[in-house]
Amino acid sequence: MVRVVKIVVRVKLEPSAYQADALAATLRACNRAANHVSEVAFRTGEKRRNGLQSMVYRQVKEDFDLSAQPAVRVVKKVCDAYATLKANVRAGNLGLKGSKRRNKAEAKPISFREDAAQAFDDRCLSWQAAKRTVSIWTTAGRLKGIRFACSEDAAKMIADHRQGESDLLFRDGAWYLFATCDVSVPAPYEPTDWIGVDLGIVNIATTSDGKVLSGRRLERYRKRMRTNVAKLQAKRTKSAKRRLKALRRREQRFATDTNHCISKTIVKTAERTSRGIALEDLTGIRERVKAKHDQRYRLHSWAFAQLGAFVEYKAQRAGVPVVRVNPAHTSRQCSACWHTHKQNRVDQATFACRACGMTMHADVNGSRNIRHRAADAWQRGKVNCPTSAP
Ligand SMILES: [Zn+2]
Repeated sequence: MVRVVKIVVRVKLEPSAYQADALAATLRACNRAANHVSEVAFRTGEKRRNGLQSMVYRQVKEDFDLSAQPAVRVVKKVCDAYATLKANVRAGNLGLKGSKRRNKAEAKPISFREDAAQAFDDRCLSWQAAKRTVSIWTTAGRLKGIRFACSEDAAKMIADHRQGESDLLFRDGAWYLFATCDVSVPAPYEPTDWIGVDLGIVNIATTSDGKVLSGRRLERYRKRMRTNVAKLQAKRTKSAKRRLKALRRREQRFATDTNHCISKTIVKTAERTSRGIALEDLTGIRERVKAKHDQRYRLHSWAFAQLGAFVEYKAQRAGVPVVRVNPAHTSRQCSACWHTHKQNRVDQATFACRACGMTMHADVNGSRNIRHRAADAWQRGKVNCPTSAP
């Protein structure tokens, strides 16, 4: 059995100065149009796509210089944004009814930055992957032969599997396209055993094989960054803020690279040994990082979620089964005798069971608990196999 998953490939555009101007003007026009459509939606309460489109279509085309397809995409973008807001409100992400945040979000039309991302479909954007160029509709007419840079693998992926829309993005002074690819993946095999993976701050990932995939390089990098960040934060000028933002992005990219390496190692090991991969359910983060409003919490929860997502999608492509388990007490339970006690965890690095006397690296003990839980869950058949890539 073969399944299809979506994978997003990012390429960096290398437009000439003229092409870059045309791209910028196009994003600006699309987002100004989106702001107009958003106001209409807010004023009339019409947030369904067909209804909204028939109200604004002609005007969007004429006043904002958009051709038919971009006009349709703009309306869809606005509808999607309102749907997301509605879902967030319903899920309580903006606080209770009457809260400041929620009132603020609901009191005015959703607005789009002038350089917010815009989706282009095949009629407005065509790819020449072999030549590493795209042709794209802009408000200054169709631009042909815009060059882009990407790896050999990414180019092949685009040539073979790209489907549907791509997003045009301007970020940190550079232009990007995000292409969506539909890739067939094998159904997961029946695992002979499980590799438990414990996610942590000191050791990013520890496996039940006893392998510690540390982010020491990442942690060193972060320490260095923190000094820079503190300096910039003290300044409070506009340019300091801009540089701070760029610095955070760079730190994220570094963490992303680290996560790519770690997830690759884990998935390759599982594949080679015909085992499945057991991860904690992401709610486990809360137990680990207590200071919720701390910047560290935000960064780490983001990094944890990303590592989990990378493992899942790499595993999926290789047909390796992945199971998420309940993370409660994985750090306090003995992986030899199941005795659970707070004091079993002696310190950050050491686990010593008060019942059976077993001592072990604390994260390895945790990962073994995760492994046991996955085997148990798999046997009981209560497993939610992930079905989509991030
Ligand atoms: Zn024990």
